Amino acid sequence: MSDMPKTNPSQPRKASDVAQWDRETDIAIVGFGGAGGCAAIEAADAGSSVTIFELASASGGSTAMSSAEIYMGGSGGTRVQQACGFADNTEDMFNYMMMCAGPQADAEKIRDYCENSRDHFQWLLDIGVPFKDSFHEERAIMCLTDDGLLYTGSEKAYPFAQQAKPCPRGHNLYVEGDNGGPLFMKIVTDNVAQRDAITVEYETRALTLIVDEQDRVMGLVIRQNQQEFNVRAHQGVILCAGGFVMNEDMLAKYAPMLSAGTEPIGNPGDTGTGILMGMSVGGAAINMHEGFISLPYYPPASMTKGIVINDKGQRFINEDVYHGRLGAFALRQLSDRIYFIVTVEQYGDYERVSYLGAQVAGTGETVEELEQELGLRQGTLQQTLRVYNEDCERGQDSICHKAAEWLEPLEPPLVALDITPGRGAFVPYFTLGGLDTLPSGEVVDPNRRIIPGLYAAGRTACGVVRRAEGYSSGMSVGDATYSGRRAGKQAAAAPRN
Ligand SMILES: Cc1cc2nc3c(=O)[nH]c(=O)nc-3n(C[C@H](O)[C@H](O)[C@H](O)COP(=O)(O)OP(=O)(O)OC[C@H]3O[C@@H](n4cnc5c(N)ncnc54)[C@H](O)[C@@H]3O)c2cc1C
Repeated sequence: MSDMPKTNPSQPRKASDVAQWDRETDIAIVGFGGAGGCAAIEAADAGSSVTIFELASASGGSTAMSSAEIYMGGSGGTRVQQACGFADNTEDMFNYMMMCAGPQADAEKIRDYCENSRDHFQWLLDIGVPFKDSFHEERAIMCLTDDGLLYTGSEKAYPFAQQAKPCPRGHNLYVEGDNGGPLFMKIVTDNVAQRDAITVEYETRALTLIVDEQDRVMGLVIRQNQQEFNVRAHQGVILCAGGFVMNEDMLAKYAPMLSAGTEPIGNPGDTGTGILMGMSVGGAAINMHEGFISLPYYPPASMTKGIVINDKGQRFINEDVYHGRLGAFALRQLSDRIYFIVTVEQYGDYERVSYLGAQVAGTGETVEELEQELGLRQGTLQQTLRVYNEDCERGQDSICHKAAEWLEPLEPPLVALDITPGRGAFVPYFTLGGLDTLPSGEVVDPNRRIIPGLYAAGRTACGVVRRAEGYSSGMSVGDATYSGRRAGKQAAAAPRN
């Protein structure tokens, strides 16, 4: 046991200050969620001894809380895609994901993800993750049936559909209800337990990294039962400790825009310690201002036939996009209020099933009356609806390019829901910034030089998914599990020091 003053993730310990190594392993993994579990399985299968340190008393993390939709495709399609009649193309997947990530895209990482996505699907099958060969037609945030495949992003919406042939890539586990996350982590945990080369230490917090004189990562300090121990990791440390949505100071410092959200979603361990540990040894933290933030306005799918307006009575988005994209666009409006305008019938659907929780801001037997109730400048909403309804009749949305299948004239009586973030609607969010890594999972410094002995995966790293306006459900668990595997494999190939 070491005898050191207070230890924190931003202050690495020098190996020269380590009186003794209390534990030894080839690879130390911080965090037993999706990324950590998949990293451990790959590393053990490649011949390394692995120890996972998990602060909770069980595996799971945010991955177990999630729906575990997993974004996969390309290479002609996964088994499920093919069975459902979708021959997915790698270039379409790549183009779509590049558009999603926008100017922040890491093309090399996205390329690697897309080219290996079908193999990743196969790997998941091999460890026992079940998927049914059936397609879920309904527009949904998460699949409440056991169907294996659905559209989970903006693939069919403008401007994505015009540049990348749409294909559904959200893979949903073969389980009824929103139970994908717990089942996924049970399967990963069973696989970990079956491998003698993997040890799991629960109720153990990773405190900080240990570095030698050349700043090579040698291991880490853990705390167990109020005591600190020095762990020597001969092949490297893989940080899989999730993001920082539960760390208020880090949110205020790096991602203040996310404070417009009402509900940080994630597990209590999402405090950014993995990112801080990586930064403390020179790792670059990138994209830290970005997060997933959403206005989950569907289901019901019929809400897609409504329109979203700002306080000038103008539309600003095609309402058939993914809910995170609509949320991101709503946030950046110079507008005191954002409204969802629907017919009475659509409002009836909304009352029956909705996660949004937005309050009614006004109703109108005529458009003029609604305009008055909302305090809009006279004529603005009337003009917007005149153009919109004309476009619906023509089957072509000339302003925001919503797809024809959702175009139906909005006839009074009408209802306006107040979806302004901060005025009652449910606005969930989590972080998308993290350590800069190569596709291999190796952490790099601001000059993109590799930090020897250090790897990161999942939300501790900055992965393929970079912003809410380009998020699609499944990209985060897809990224966490795939990047975890890549890091595990890479660390296992490193020489033992
Ligand atoms: C309700 C909900 C639904 C979601 N649905 C989806 C979805 O369907 N599809 C999708 O792609 N994404 C979804 N997401 C997002 C996705 O689940 C996460 O981004 C992803 O699972 C993160 O995986 P991870 O392995 O990086 O982290 P996690 O699974 O969170 O694992 C991190 C682990 O590290 C541990 N840890 C943290 N710090 C330390 C430390 N210092 N020492 C030791 N252990 C530590 C934590 O306790 C945790 O167990 C959802 C998220 C939520 C909350």
